[in-house]
Amino acid sequence: MNKKQVEVWLRERDPVKLQELWNRADAVRRKYVGEAVHLRGLLEISNYCARQCAYCGLFAGNTSIPRYRMTIDEILTGAKRAMECGFGTVVMQSGEDYGMDKAFITEVICRIKTETPLAVTLSLGERKDDELLEWRNAGADRYLLRFETSDAALFDAIHPPLGRRRVDRIAFLKKLQSMGYETGSGVMIGIPGQTYATLANDILLFQSLDLDMIGMGPYIPHPGTRLGSTPPAACEDQVAADETTVCNALALTRILCPDTNIPATTALATIDKAHGYEEGLARGANVIMPNVTPKQYRALYQIYPSKVCIDETPEYTAKLVQERIIAAHRTIGKGPGGRFDAHTETEE
Ligand code: SAH
Repeated sequence: MNKKQVEVWLRERDPVKLQELWNRADAVRRKYVGEAVHLRGLLEISNYCARQCAYCGLFAGNTSIPRYRMTIDEILTGAKRAMECGFGTVVMQSGEDYGMDKAFITEVICRIKTETPLAVTLSLGERKDDELLEWRNAGADRYLLRFETSDAALFDAIHPPLGRRRVDRIAFLKKLQSMGYETGSGVMIGIPGQTYATLANDILLFQSLDLDMIGMGPYIPHPGTRLGSTPPAACEDQVAADETTVCNALALTRILCPDTNIPATTALATIDKAHGYEEGLARGANVIMPNVTPKQYRALYQIYPSKVCIDETPEYTAKLVQERIIAAHRTIGKGPGGRFDAHTETEE
């Protein structure tokens, strides 16, 4: 599929044509990654952040939220709860928090790896090379860093550099791959200033980067942020931050990157609380990342407002998600569900 065709599909709204795209994506999903839906427990380990991202509620300048940083014991307890919920992976995510230093994260990884069979995914922002290398050597399996948009000017506008250090996220992803991480990335859909041509480029870039995981969700304005409170005037050809566009992008990504892991994201489940996960699973997704953050911290990790399951316990969230997967006639993935063992797991 060339760029023009991707762009046309992204804009498509005719239900008959869309069904054709979605059926194609579903067939590719079934053939390459099977019926299993892999569950990753998402543990939001700190909401401190050094960055000033225009889209995210955790940006450093937001003085209206109390900040928290989980202790090693709290993180270990969280990881074990993810394991007890039947998940094969724990994803540790945070703001870009340099207060969680190299040694701290190393110790967390070593303890999870010694005390559980879980795969460990990190999503800690643009951390330094020596940190990434040490964490990989300590046993971290995967790293997630969305490039958010392939439009460099738009990215710089919504994600100001930290001091003089400007990080090229594409180069960062290649570095992660060379360190042996299973590498995940992704974008927000419908950021003000994002065009359909840009989003088509994003999807082609997923393909050329040969990513192991690709996450996409709608951009959800947060009123406390620069982008949420004073959005720029809509650009010509602005991408809609709606469910159909997200589904089209998911389906196209599945078709172009057939064996990658694609989550039905929390952001998609937030804009359609009743059917978001099911829509994602039906348009190419094969992963869900249920939140296992302790209840007292969930409300403090509002990257965008009205996130789903903010007042649930990890066990309750897990049970609901598992029931929804079964109701959608899919199976619960077993084991870590890495890119290259996803299909084997299905056949268990
Ligand atoms: N600090 C880490 C984790 C960020 S949160 C990092 O920068 O990688 C994970 C993802 O949430 C972000 O990469 C972004 O794509 C998404 N996100 C942040 N704010 C959002 C918003 N307002 N609407 C939708 N998604 C958002």
